[in-house]
Amino acid sequence: MSEFRDYFVCDSCRNRDFKVLYNFSLRFHKVNFSDDLIYDSLSEEIFQCTQCQKTYTKTEVQEGLADLKRRRKGGVRQGSLFSDM
Ligand SMILES: [Zn+2]
Repeated sequence: MSEFRDYFVCDSCRNRDFKVLYNFSLRFHKVNFSDDLIYDSLSEEIFQCTQCQKTYTKTEVQEGLADLKRRRKGGVRQGSLFSDM
């Protein structure tokens, strides 16, 4: 069986290398009928293209990969099972 690898690439420069940036934040929200604030601490990963510095969220990368999967599946359906015999 042959193996493929599809890469998530930057949509503005086609580069496939990214570095991870971390954001740390506290998210405050009010509780109903009270002046108290409760908070969540969040850490968020941001992926930055090493070439053009464009940033992507984790969700955007996951959606990009899901797209690749859909496209690859389409390719399998179009090709013949016996094409490499
Ligand atoms: Zn880029």
